[in-house]
Amino acid sequence: MRQWTATHLAKLARKASRAVGKNGTDLPGQIARRVDQNILRKLAEQVDDIVFISGTNGKTTTSNLIGHTLKANHIDIIHNNEGANMAAGITSAFIMQTTKQTKIAIIEIDEGSIPRVLKEVTPSMMVFTNFFRDQMDRFGEIDIMVNNIAKSISDKGIKLLLNADDPFVSRLKIASETRVYYGMKAHAHEFEQSTMNESRYCPNCGRLLEYDYIHYNQIGHYHCECGFKREQPKYEVTSFETSPFLKLNIGETSFNMKIAGDFNAYNALAAYTVLRELGLNDESIQKGFETYTSDNGRMQYFSLNQKEAMINLAKNPAGMNASLSVGEQLEGRKVYVISLNDNAADGRDTSWIYDADFEKLSNQDIEAIIVTGNRAEELQLRLKLAEVDVPVVLERDIYKATAKTMDYTGFTVAIPNYTSLSPMLEQLNRSFEGGQS
Ligand SMILES: [Zn+2]
Repeated sequence: MRQWTATHLAKLARKASRAVGKNGTDLPGQIARRVDQNILRKLAEQVDDIVFISGTNGKTTTSNLIGHTLKANHIDIIHNNEGANMAAGITSAFIMQTTKQTKIAIIEIDEGSIPRVLKEVTPSMMVFTNFFRDQMDRFGEIDIMVNNIAKSISDKGIKLLLNADDPFVSRLKIASETRVYYGMKAHAHEFEQSTMNESRYCPNCGRLLEYDYIHYNQIGHYHCECGFKREQPKYEVTSFETSPFLKLNIGETSFNMKIAGDFNAYNALAAYTVLRELGLNDESIQKGFETYTSDNGRMQYFSLNQKEAMINLAKNPAGMNASLSVGEQLEGRKVYVISLNDNAADGRDTSWIYDADFEKLSNQDIEAIIVTGNRAEELQLRLKLAEVDVPVVLERDIYKATAKTMDYTGFTVAIPNYTSLSPMLEQLNRSFEGGQS
C-alpha cells in the first residue's frame, strides 16, 4: 500500500511539474522516497538486470549508447536521464518507467551517490569509464574516492566491467571476484593529448607507474614493481579513426558510428562491453551503434536519402576552429551555414571571430557559404578577409539560411553560436524529418 501511494503521488507530481513547464526528473523520486523509504529497493527487486554506469567522464554517452542499442533491438528498459543520476533521479526513473515487461535497467550514477544508492540497490553489473581529478581536487582525493567506491561495492557479487587502461578504475578489482576488462591496444589511435599528467601513481603502493604506452593522461599500458598492472582485456579496440565520425574496430568487427571525438571511442567500448555481457552479438550491437547520434547540437549528424548534415556549436575561436577542421575531414563537396548572433547570452562582443582560422575553408571543396544571424555582415566581412574564394550568401533569418542548404547536394556543415543553436537545430530536424538523426 505504501509503495502504491508513493508511486502514485510521484506520478502526480511529475504531471503537475510538467504542467508548469518543468522537466521534474528529481521531483517524483523525492516525493516517493519521503512516503516510502524503501521504494527504490522494492522497485529494483522487480527487475532482472540492473547495470550501473559510473566514472568521471563519458557516463552519459556510454549509458545512452547502451540504451539506444537495446531499444534498437526491441528490448524495453528503464533508463534515467542525463543529470538525474543521484538517488532521487534514479528513483524517478524506476517509478516512471517500470512496466511488467521491463527486465533491464540502465542507470547512470554519479560517483558520489554510489555509497548511498548501493545501500538500496545491488546492480548485477557496474561499468566504470575513467576517474580523473577535477581541477579543484587536491592530490590524493582520487585515491580516497576510489577506495570508498570499492568499499561500497565489495562482496555483493557485482560483476565489474573495468577500463583496464585506467589504473584508478582497474584498482576496483579489489572489490569483486567477477571482473571483465576492456581496453585499447597500443597505437590504436593517436589521441589529442590533454594536459594533466600528474596522476600517474600506482593506486596500490604509491610508486610512480611505469608505462609501455600512453593513450592520454594516465590512460595506457602500465605496470608497477608491486605487481599492479594493466590486465589483459576481454574486449579490445584494435584501432579507430575519426574522420570526423568514429570508425571503431573491436576485435574483428568494424562499427561505423555517427558520433565524433576521440574520447567517445572509450565510451563506445564501455557500452560494447556491457552489451556483450548482456548477451548481444556484434550484429545486434551494430544496429544500435551505427544509428546513434547525439541530440544536443554537438557534432550531431543527420541524413535523408543522399543528403547529409552535421551541426556543431562554436562560441569561441577554439570551437570555430574545431568545427572548421571537421569540415576539412569530411570528404567531398560541402555547403556551410555559419551563424553569428550577438544576444546577451552570446556576449555582445563578436570580435573573437577574427581569432578563428577561417583560412581553413580555402582548401576545401565548397559549393557555398551561407552566413546568417543578426551579425551576418560581420561574418561576411571576415570571410572576405580570409580570401575564401567561394560564393558567400547572406540570409539573416537562421531558419531560412539553414533550410537553404538543402538546395545544395554537398554535405551541410552547420555552425551556430550560442543563441543560434536552437533555431538551426530546429530547422535541421524539420528538413531531415523521417531520416536519421
Ligand atoms: Zn605499485
